[in-house]
Amino acid sequence: MKSNKGKGTSPELKVRRMLRDMGYPGYRLNWKKAPGKPDITYPGRRIAIFVNGCFWHRCPNCALSLPKSHTEFWKAKFDRNVERDRRNLDDLESEGWRVLVIWECEIKKHPDTVEGELRELLESSKPR
Ligand SMILES: [Zn+2]
Repeated sequence: MKSNKGKGTSPELKVRRMLRDMGYPGYRLNWKKAPGKPDITYPGRRIAIFVNGCFWHRCPNCALSLPKSHTEFWKAKFDRNVERDRRNLDDLESEGWRVLVIWECEIKKHPDTVEGELRELLESSKPR
């Protein structure tokens, strides 16, 4: 199984390409001053975008089953990932960020929907 934890994984690259093609190139990657260092941020617009791998972040749409061996280990690990994601989201929102979480499967199956969500988010924000 391929890990999607690292930087520059391919679903994220697709999102970045969409953003550039839409005419919003000024994003920052893993910006340290935003809680949780989101994959993509527009600091001036207070927009944070996460591109989550379905396996590691336990996508609710895919509802992937747990690995059959070392199940307890994986369950604990995934619980921590999900908990961390939720905490980051809370922290960001309480600091006034608007957050969009994009799942790997959405990019693959419904890229037009994702593009629409990104466009809506960006068009409704003003750069500072
Ligand atoms: Zn998924």
